[in-house]
Amino acid sequence: MTENLRLPPPAVGQNFVTISALEGGSLTLPKSLFITNADPEKRTTVPSLCFLIKHTSPSADKNKTTKLVFDLGLKRDFSGYTAAQQHHISQRQPTSTSPDTAASLRNGGVKPEDVDVVVLSHVHWDHVGTPSDFPNAKFVVGSGTLDLLANGGGYLYPKELFHHDELPFDRTYELPPVEGGKGLRAARKQTVHKWEKWDGFELDVVDYFGDGSLFVVDAPGHLFGHVNLLARIGVGRWVYLGGDCCHDVRILKGESDVATYSDGCGG
Ligand SMILES: [Zn+2]
Repeated sequence: MTENLRLPPPAVGQNFVTISALEGGSLTLPKSLFITNADPEKRTTVPSLCFLIKHTSPSADKNKTTKLVFDLGLKRDFSGYTAAQQHHISQRQPTSTSPDTAASLRNGGVKPEDVDVVVLSHVHWDHVGTPSDFPNAKFVVGSGTLDLLANGGGYLYPKELFHHDELPFDRTYELPPVEGGKGLRAARKQTVHKWEKWDGFELDVVDYFGDGSLFVVDAPGHLFGHVNLLARIGVGRWVYLGGDCCHDVRILKGESDVATYSDGCGG
Protein backbone atom coordinates (compact mmCIF):
# COMPACT_ATOMS: atom_id res chain seq x y z
CA MET A 1 0.00 0.00 0.00
CA THR A 2 1.16 3.54 -0.66
CA GLU A 3 1.47 5.22 2.72
CA ASN A 4 1.63 8.69 1.24
CA LEU A 5 -1.43 8.20 -0.92
CA ARG A 6 -3.71 11.19 -0.57
CA LEU A 7 -7.19 10.78 -1.90
CA PRO A 8 -9.29 13.81 -2.83
CA PRO A 9 -10.62 15.69 0.21
CA PRO A 10 -14.39 15.95 0.60
CA ALA A 11 -16.09 18.84 -1.16
CA VAL A 12 -18.50 21.14 0.61
CA GLY A 13 -21.72 19.14 0.95
CA GLN A 14 -19.87 16.01 -0.20
CA ASN A 15 -22.10 13.16 -1.32
CA PHE A 16 -21.34 9.57 -0.29
CA VAL A 17 -22.38 6.09 -1.37
CA THR A 18 -23.36 3.06 0.71
CA ILE A 19 -22.04 -0.44 0.02
CA SER A 20 -23.47 -3.85 0.84
CA ALA A 21 -21.58 -7.07 0.11
CA LEU A 22 -23.48 -9.74 -1.81
CA GLU A 23 -22.71 -13.44 -2.02
CA GLY A 24 -22.19 -14.38 -5.66
CA GLY A 25 -21.14 -18.04 -5.30
CA SER A 26 -17.78 -19.65 -4.66
CA LEU A 27 -15.11 -21.65 -6.48
CA THR A 28 -11.94 -23.56 -5.64
CA LEU A 29 -8.51 -22.73 -7.00
CA PRO A 30 -4.89 -23.78 -6.48
CA LYS A 31 -3.20 -21.35 -4.10
CA SER A 32 -0.36 -21.11 -6.60
CA LEU A 33 -2.67 -18.94 -8.75
CA PHE A 34 -2.79 -16.32 -6.00
CA ILE A 35 0.70 -15.94 -4.58
CA THR A 36 4.19 -16.78 -5.70
CA ASN A 37 5.31 -18.80 -2.66
CA ALA A 38 2.26 -21.05 -2.28
CA ASP A 39 2.32 -24.76 -1.51
CA PRO A 40 1.72 -26.26 -5.00
CA GLU A 41 -0.53 -28.97 -3.52
CA LYS A 42 -2.90 -26.63 -1.68
CA ARG A 43 -6.24 -25.43 -2.96
CA THR A 44 -8.64 -22.97 -1.43
CA THR A 45 -12.35 -22.25 -1.82
CA VAL A 46 -12.98 -18.55 -2.30
CA PRO A 47 -16.12 -16.40 -2.52
CA SER A 48 -16.86 -14.38 -5.64
CA LEU A 49 -18.17 -11.35 -3.83
CA CYS A 50 -20.38 -8.78 -5.48
CA PHE A 51 -21.50 -5.43 -4.11
CA LEU A 52 -24.62 -3.28 -4.10
CA ILE A 53 -23.75 0.41 -4.16
CA LYS A 54 -26.47 2.97 -3.54
CA HIS A 55 -26.06 6.57 -4.65
CA THR A 56 -28.61 9.28 -3.96
CA SER A 57 -28.56 12.54 -5.89
CA PRO A 58 -29.92 15.21 -3.55
CA SER A 59 -30.40 17.71 -6.36
CA ALA A 60 -31.57 15.63 -9.29
CA ASP A 61 -34.80 13.75 -9.86
CA LYS A 62 -36.22 14.30 -6.38
CA ASN A 63 -33.60 12.38 -4.44
CA LYS A 64 -33.39 9.55 -6.93
CA THR A 65 -31.36 6.64 -5.63
CA THR A 66 -29.31 4.75 -8.19
CA LYS A 67 -28.73 1.09 -7.43
CA LEU A 68 -25.45 -0.09 -8.91
CA VAL A 69 -24.18 -3.67 -8.65
CA PHE A 70 -20.47 -4.34 -9.03
CA ASP A 71 -19.81 -7.82 -10.44
CA LEU A 72 -22.31 -10.67 -10.74
CA GLY A 73 -20.35 -13.71 -9.50
CA LEU A 74 -21.05 -17.19 -10.89
CA LYS A 75 -23.99 -18.22 -13.06
CA ARG A 76 -26.43 -20.30 -11.03
CA ASP A 77 -27.06 -22.45 -14.13
CA PHE A 78 -23.77 -23.72 -15.57
CA SER A 79 -25.45 -24.62 -18.87
CA GLY A 80 -25.14 -20.90 -19.63
CA TYR A 81 -21.37 -21.36 -19.98
CA THR A 82 -19.80 -22.59 -23.20
CA ALA A 83 -18.47 -26.17 -23.37
CA ALA A 84 -14.89 -24.88 -23.03
CA GLN A 85 -15.85 -22.78 -20.03
CA GLN A 86 -17.59 -25.77 -18.44
CA HIS A 87 -14.43 -27.83 -18.92
CA HIS A 88 -12.43 -25.04 -17.25
CA ILE A 89 -14.95 -24.88 -14.40
CA SER A 90 -14.63 -28.66 -13.86
CA GLN A 91 -11.12 -27.87 -12.60
CA ARG A 92 -12.48 -25.30 -10.15
CA GLN A 93 -14.61 -27.65 -8.05
CA PRO A 94 -16.15 -27.53 -5.58
CA THR A 95 -18.25 -24.56 -6.55
CA SER A 96 -21.45 -23.18 -5.07
CA THR A 97 -24.05 -20.90 -6.58
CA SER A 98 -26.65 -20.58 -3.84
CA PRO A 99 -27.29 -17.86 -3.17
CA ASP A 100 -26.22 -16.18 -6.39
CA THR A 101 -26.21 -12.40 -6.79
CA ALA A 102 -29.90 -12.08 -7.65
CA ALA A 103 -30.93 -14.23 -4.66
CA SER A 104 -28.60 -12.24 -2.39
CA LEU A 105 -30.26 -9.02 -3.51
CA ARG A 106 -33.72 -10.44 -2.91
CA ASN A 107 -32.64 -11.66 0.52
CA GLY A 108 -31.82 -8.02 1.28
CA GLY A 109 -35.12 -6.72 -0.05
CA VAL A 110 -33.87 -5.47 -3.44
CA LYS A 111 -35.44 -6.71 -6.66
CA PRO A 112 -32.85 -7.44 -9.37
CA GLU A 113 -35.16 -5.79 -11.90
CA ASP A 114 -34.84 -2.54 -9.93
CA VAL A 115 -31.05 -2.43 -10.39
CA ASP A 116 -30.12 0.56 -12.57
CA VAL A 117 -26.48 -0.17 -13.39
CA VAL A 118 -24.24 -3.24 -13.44
CA VAL A 119 -20.49 -2.61 -13.57
CA LEU A 120 -18.35 -5.67 -14.28
CA SER A 121 -14.75 -5.53 -13.07
CA HIS A 122 -13.89 -7.93 -15.88
CA VAL A 123 -15.53 -10.75 -17.82
CA HIS A 124 -14.00 -13.90 -16.40
CA TRP A 125 -16.64 -16.62 -15.95
CA ASP A 126 -16.77 -16.16 -12.18
CA HIS A 127 -17.64 -12.46 -12.44
CA VAL A 128 -20.18 -12.26 -15.27
CA GLY A 129 -22.98 -14.09 -13.42
CA THR A 130 -26.43 -14.10 -14.97
CA PRO A 131 -26.95 -10.77 -16.79
CA SER A 132 -30.52 -11.71 -17.79
CA ASP A 133 -31.50 -11.33 -14.11
CA PHE A 134 -31.09 -7.57 -14.59
CA PRO A 135 -33.45 -6.70 -17.45
CA ASN A 136 -33.55 -2.96 -16.74
CA ALA A 137 -29.90 -2.32 -15.95
CA LYS A 138 -27.35 -0.51 -18.04
CA PHE A 139 -24.16 -2.61 -18.19
CA VAL A 140 -20.82 -0.81 -17.93
CA VAL A 141 -17.51 -2.53 -18.71
CA GLY A 142 -13.92 -1.52 -19.35
CA SER A 143 -12.70 -0.52 -22.78
CA GLY A 144 -12.04 -3.45 -25.13
CA THR A 145 -14.30 -5.86 -23.25
CA LEU A 146 -16.69 -6.43 -26.15
CA ASP A 147 -13.77 -7.07 -28.49
CA LEU A 148 -12.39 -9.55 -25.93
CA LEU A 149 -15.72 -11.39 -25.71
CA ALA A 150 -15.99 -11.62 -29.49
CA ASN A 151 -12.39 -12.39 -30.42
CA GLY A 152 -10.42 -13.29 -27.31
CA GLY A 153 -7.27 -11.43 -26.37
CA GLY A 154 -4.36 -13.39 -27.84
CA TYR A 155 -2.85 -16.63 -26.54
CA LEU A 156 -2.94 -15.51 -22.90
CA TYR A 157 -6.67 -14.89 -23.10
CA PRO A 158 -8.01 -17.48 -25.57
CA LYS A 159 -11.36 -16.84 -27.16
CA GLU A 160 -12.86 -20.13 -25.95
CA LEU A 161 -12.70 -18.98 -22.33
CA PHE A 162 -15.26 -16.28 -23.05
CA HIS A 163 -18.89 -16.35 -24.10
CA HIS A 164 -19.34 -14.04 -27.10
CA ASP A 165 -23.04 -13.53 -26.32
CA GLU A 166 -22.58 -12.83 -22.63
CA LEU A 167 -23.93 -9.29 -22.30
CA PRO A 168 -27.12 -7.50 -23.40
CA PHE A 169 -25.39 -5.52 -26.14
CA ASP A 170 -28.21 -3.00 -26.58
CA ARG A 171 -27.72 -1.96 -22.94
CA THR A 172 -23.94 -2.37 -22.68
CA TYR A 173 -21.53 0.58 -22.69
CA GLU A 174 -17.78 0.56 -22.46
CA LEU A 175 -15.89 3.19 -20.53
CA PRO A 176 -13.81 5.27 -22.93
CA PRO A 177 -10.28 3.99 -23.63
CA VAL A 178 -7.54 5.31 -21.37
CA GLU A 179 -5.22 7.68 -23.16
CA GLY A 180 -2.02 5.84 -24.04
CA GLY A 181 -3.48 2.53 -22.84
CA LYS A 182 -2.80 -0.72 -24.66
CA GLY A 183 -6.25 -2.19 -24.81
CA LEU A 184 -8.21 -4.08 -27.39
CA ARG A 185 -10.47 -2.30 -29.89
CA ALA A 186 -12.82 0.08 -28.10
CA ALA A 187 -16.55 -0.28 -28.66
CA ARG A 188 -18.44 2.54 -30.36
CA LYS A 189 -21.00 2.73 -27.57
CA GLN A 190 -19.24 4.37 -24.67
CA THR A 191 -20.18 6.15 -21.47
CA VAL A 192 -19.61 9.92 -21.44
CA HIS A 193 -16.91 9.79 -18.77
CA LYS A 194 -13.47 11.30 -18.91
CA TRP A 195 -10.38 9.68 -17.36
CA GLU A 196 -8.38 11.86 -15.00
CA LYS A 197 -5.13 11.55 -13.10
CA TRP A 198 -4.46 12.34 -9.44
CA ASP A 199 -1.09 13.40 -8.07
CA GLY A 200 0.56 10.44 -6.35
CA PHE A 201 -1.94 7.89 -7.69
CA GLU A 202 -0.64 5.74 -10.51
CA LEU A 203 -3.90 4.71 -12.08
CA ASP A 204 -6.41 6.69 -14.15
CA VAL A 205 -9.80 7.30 -12.59
CA VAL A 206 -13.28 8.26 -13.71
CA ASP A 207 -15.66 10.14 -11.41
CA TYR A 208 -18.66 7.92 -12.11
CA PHE A 209 -21.47 10.09 -10.72
CA GLY A 210 -19.59 13.37 -11.15
CA ASP A 211 -19.75 14.24 -7.45
CA GLY A 212 -16.64 12.53 -6.07
CA SER A 213 -18.56 9.73 -4.36
CA LEU A 214 -17.59 6.81 -6.62
CA PHE A 215 -14.56 6.43 -8.85
CA VAL A 216 -13.86 3.80 -11.48
CA VAL A 217 -10.16 2.91 -11.52
CA ASP A 218 -8.42 1.62 -14.63
CA ALA A 219 -6.66 -1.53 -13.41
CA PRO A 220 -4.88 -3.29 -16.27
CA GLY A 221 -3.05 -6.54 -15.62
CA HIS A 222 -5.50 -9.30 -14.72
CA LEU A 223 -7.52 -9.03 -17.92
CA PHE A 224 -8.15 -6.51 -20.71
CA GLY A 225 -10.66 -3.91 -19.64
CA HIS A 226 -10.26 -4.64 -15.94
CA VAL A 227 -11.66 -1.88 -13.73
CA ASN A 228 -11.94 -1.42 -9.96
CA LEU A 229 -14.12 0.86 -7.87
CA LEU A 230 -13.07 3.31 -5.19
CA ALA A 231 -16.04 4.36 -3.10
CA ARG A 232 -16.26 7.26 -0.67
CA ILE A 233 -18.53 6.13 2.16
CA GLY A 234 -17.88 8.92 4.67
CA VAL A 235 -15.46 11.69 5.54
CA GLY A 236 -12.02 10.10 5.25
CA ARG A 237 -13.62 6.67 4.76
CA TRP A 238 -13.07 4.79 1.52
CA VAL A 239 -13.63 1.28 0.24
CA TYR A 240 -11.59 -0.18 -2.63
CA LEU A 241 -13.25 -2.98 -4.62
CA GLY A 242 -10.54 -4.78 -6.55
CA GLY A 243 -12.29 -7.64 -8.38
CA ASP A 244 -9.41 -10.18 -8.60
CA CYS A 245 -6.57 -7.70 -8.02
CA CYS A 246 -5.43 -9.16 -4.72
CA HIS A 247 -6.48 -12.57 -3.42
CA ASP A 248 -4.26 -12.83 -0.37
CA VAL A 249 -3.46 -10.41 2.43
CA ARG A 250 0.21 -11.44 2.27
CA ILE A 251 0.47 -9.52 -1.01
CA LEU A 252 -0.60 -6.32 0.77
CA LYS A 253 1.85 -6.99 3.60
CA GLY A 254 4.74 -7.47 1.18
CA GLU A 255 5.21 -11.11 2.28
CA SER A 256 4.33 -12.49 -1.13
CA ASP A 257 3.98 -11.38 -4.74
CA VAL A 258 1.08 -11.67 -7.14
CA ALA A 259 1.22 -15.00 -8.95
CA THR A 260 1.30 -14.89 -12.74
CA TYR A 261 0.24 -17.56 -15.19
CA SER A 262 0.99 -18.23 -18.81
CA ASP A 263 -1.96 -20.17 -20.20
CA GLY A 264 -4.86 -17.76 -19.77
CA CYS A 265 -6.48 -20.12 -17.28
CA GLY A 266 -5.85 -18.24 -14.09
CA GLY A 267 -9.46 -17.27 -13.42
ZN1 LIG B 1 -10.59 -12.95 -13.02
